[in-house]
Amino acid sequence: MKTKVSAREGWFDANPERPRLIGSRCRSCRSYFFPQEAFACRNPSCGSSELEDVPLSATGTLWSYTDNHYQPPAPYVSPDPFVPYAIAAVELADEQMVVLGQVANGVATADLKVGMRMDLVAETLYADDATEYLVWKWTPAASSERADRSRP
Ligand SMILES: [Zn+2]
Repeated sequence: MKTKVSAREGWFDANPERPRLIGSRCRSCRSYFFPQEAFACRNPSCGSSELEDVPLSATGTLWSYTDNHYQPPAPYVSPDPFVPYAIAAVELADEQMVVLGQVANGVATADLKVGMRMDLVAETLYADDATEYLVWKWTPAASSERADRSRP
């Protein structure tokens, strides 16, 4: 079995059971940043340099989405020929921030609706002989959908 690691070292905890994005939180004003901010808080009225790494929420609300028809630049690894994919902007409620991510394999923009709940998942971006490199993706929250359907 291949080892699974994050393709974005430090951005993303690729634990397949419970994938989480890693952001920064300002100790002073409690603002969140993603990707991580290493040196100083970006809140112009704060400017503290006391930042800590924190796992971000793994669910959010779909804020916007789009189809990407352009091959992203390296180090992004794309299938050849390039296959367009959907990108979701998901708002994390606790952190009050929007995180962009590819939409999970098999999910089309037709499956998406602004305002729906989205879950963070880990999917393989590419692999070599020993290792699978994972990235985060967004997928419509299965649990809430199932709950809706089971209602009489
Ligand atoms: Zn701050």
